[in-house]
Amino acid sequence: MNISFDNTENAFAYKSDKELKSARFLFKTMGHDWFVQLGTRLTPFVMKTGIPLVNTIIRKTIFKQFVGGETLAETANVGSLLNKYGINIILDYGVEGKEGASFFDAATEEFIRVINYAAEQTNIPFISIKVTGIARIDLLQTLNEAPRLRSGIHDNEEENSEWDSVRARMYAICEAAAEKNIGVLVDAEETWIQDPIDRLTMEMMEEFNKESVIVYNTVQLYRHDRLNFLKLSHKIARQKGFKLGMKLVRGAYMEKERDSALQLNHQSPIHKDKEATDKDFNDAVVYCIENLNDISVVVASHNERSNMLALELMKLKGLPNNHSKVHFSQLYGMSDHITFNLSKAGYNVSKYLPFGPIKEVIPYLMRRAEENTSVSGQTGRELSLINLELRRRKYKHVDLDLAE
Ligand SMILES: Cc1cc2nc3c(=O)[nH]c(=O)nc-3n(C[C@H](O)[C@H](O)[C@H](O)COP(=O)(O)OP(=O)(O)OC[C@H]3O[C@@H](n4cnc5c(N)ncnc54)[C@H](O)[C@@H]3O)c2cc1C
Repeated sequence: MNISFDNTENAFAYKSDKELKSARFLFKTMGHDWFVQLGTRLTPFVMKTGIPLVNTIIRKTIFKQFVGGETLAETANVGSLLNKYGINIILDYGVEGKEGASFFDAATEEFIRVINYAAEQTNIPFISIKVTGIARIDLLQTLNEAPRLRSGIHDNEEENSEWDSVRARMYAICEAAAEKNIGVLVDAEETWIQDPIDRLTMEMMEEFNKESVIVYNTVQLYRHDRLNFLKLSHKIARQKGFKLGMKLVRGAYMEKERDSALQLNHQSPIHKDKEATDKDFNDAVVYCIENLNDISVVVASHNERSNMLALELMKLKGLPNNHSKVHFSQLYGMSDHITFNLSKAGYNVSKYLPFGPIKEVIPYLMRRAEENTSVSGQTGRELSLINLELRRRKYKHVDLDLAE
């Protein structure tokens, strides 16, 4: 392969020494499991106290590393910086877990504003949306548990009308996106609310994915039922004559899912080990790339082997690196070695860039902290790459002198 993820010069070209050192400090801190466990529990409460110092510390550390800014306008700096390196962004207005119709309507307007903004930029092909940003979690949970809904009949008028409002919000967002040709990536969330999210997303795909893909669903391959779900979704799309958009992720709620299954004495929806998750993720990558006639795929992963597998398969099939139906994406603040080297080799690659007021993006930041503890293993990789690059910069003149 003519691409290597080891090239740290490409990976960190956009970061100054000072920024790299701050990132190193942050990843080192997140490497302490006890600190992350304590922090993820305490931060949401401490934030509520409104102590300015806490706000400042979060803003200058974890927020700066993983978030594009507090407002849409503030994301412009990161957006144009990444654009210089041929990297796209997926804008994510980071609201989740709120309540109230007026809040959901305002969030819908904000999503449409983000779409209009994206349409004016050259490097924002997608926005991302969480259905919990436009719907009450309890409603989603009720619908998830109501088996009769699957036959389309639910005898609670109030909930039916509330659900109609959610559908209308989602429709308005997808319609605006279709008009501007901006993709909508619908995030996957917890299993106890996922069924209505899937149904709504399938409905939107049927409506808006006739010619090309505007709406994408997300499958979490840490779930043991999702590879099958991907194939079933493909079958339905073919039967109904629409194109399938799929974002592939491993999944961000593993501990929460396992705890909940344990508490309820249910079978865990999560694979028994990492190997099983990896196998399903890689099989899903292969399945999508084998079926690009009907499927557009976003490979959303920091796993080098999974990304490399997609590249090898594309090469084997003689597909161009910038094939319009294959996108790669990593979270902003993570795995620059993958993103920047993919971009340099001409692949479609983006950073998933959340924005929003600090207190609204706290759940997202806590998930990133958990994902980057030494337990999950990502920190070690990030740290060693940053150290490698700092060392390369320090000694690059020495090498030059020797060469002369
Ligand atoms: C663009 C983008 C969009 C995203 N959207 C979503 C989304 O909509 N919904 C969502 O849930 N997440 C989403 N994520 C987050 C994503 O799920 C995590 O970043 C991802 O799980 C990290 O795994 P990885 O593929 O980078 O690979 P790795 O770092 O190799 O894998 C880590 C992952 O493997 C799984 N895993 C770890 N240990 C075990 C184990 N013992 N048993 C079984 N599985 C295990 C977990 O999912 C863990 O996160 C998104 C990520 C990106 C980059």
